[in-house]
Amino acid sequence: MPFAIVIARHGGPEVLEQVEVPPVEPGPGEVRVRVTHVALNHLDTWVRRGVPGHDFGLPRIPGSDVAGVVETSAGPRAVVLHPSWGCGTCTLCLAGRQNRCPRFMLRGESADGGLRSELAVPAWQCLPLPAGLTPAEGAALPLTLLTAWHMLVVRARLQRGERVLIQAGASGVGTMAIQLAKLWGCEVHATASTPARRQRIAELGAVPWDYAQVGARGGVRDVDVVVETVGVDTWEQSIRALKWGGRLVICGTTSGATAGVEAKINLRALFFKQLDLLGSTMGTSADMVAAWAAVESGAIRPIVHAVLPLSKLGEAHVMLEQRQAFGKVVIEVEA
Ligand SMILES: [Zn+2]
Repeated sequence: MPFAIVIARHGGPEVLEQVEVPPVEPGPGEVRVRVTHVALNHLDTWVRRGVPGHDFGLPRIPGSDVAGVVETSAGPRAVVLHPSWGCGTCTLCLAGRQNRCPRFMLRGESADGGLRSELAVPAWQCLPLPAGLTPAEGAALPLTLLTAWHMLVVRARLQRGERVLIQAGASGVGTMAIQLAKLWGCEVHATASTPARRQRIAELGAVPWDYAQVGARGGVRDVDVVVETVGVDTWEQSIRALKWGGRLVICGTTSGATAGVEAKINLRALFFKQLDLLGSTMGTSADMVAAWAAVESGAIRPIVHAVLPLSKLGEAHVMLEQRQAFGKVVIEVEA
């Protein structure tokens, strides 16, 4: 019998409940995907815990980053699923700006996700598993890759050779952003909280820093671009680290879950230094295709911290919440 993990109410890991579901019936233009691996994101813990003022439309099947198998006339094909889509008919979608569509959907957040034995998706959402990657590595890619690509390439308009600071360089988005900025030939700096994580950042080719060294004398300063995901806790130092004409691009505030989401800004720094502050959410379908090509060329590699069976889903959530992982925690749905 097909099954799914369902969140029927917000709470601790115990609300992640496995239930039997009817077999999926692919509609016109859709294919059936047998799910093998789902990578977790911080988003999964927010969907589970709930976010004040946000309606996730429970009950919800979580899981944004999905790898699986599609049966074709030529045999089984390993795929990774495009994580998001727009309505497809509004002027923003038609202009290729799906992530600005008022009906923008993200698998596992505003639409049901992939933590289930099978699902039906439009055929165009199936990306081929890149050669040389395991399905678990493939599952580790979409959300963080798309987010980092849109932030750096589209919003911050990264230029070759620029000096870039990635806050929380050991995070999922952080490790992707480091690799992308290296691919652009940039001088990459990144922050992490422990010596072990700074060592891993250095192995990715970034200059590692402690958070306290951002914007400080003798620390990391005069950067062209800051990639922010921490938000409230690091925001003021990030702005201090920017050079004149610098850009800060932010896709989230992982520190905001406990500290609130309001930050202070030095307006004199903003206008004197002529800074650009850029918000970014997910990315477009064209970004995903371009980013996928970078993976297929071998320039970008997913970083998998652990592959755990579905029975350890609750433990995997705790690993994310306690920031024990360097890279992605992937759930093996099919043993
Ligand atoms: Zn639309």
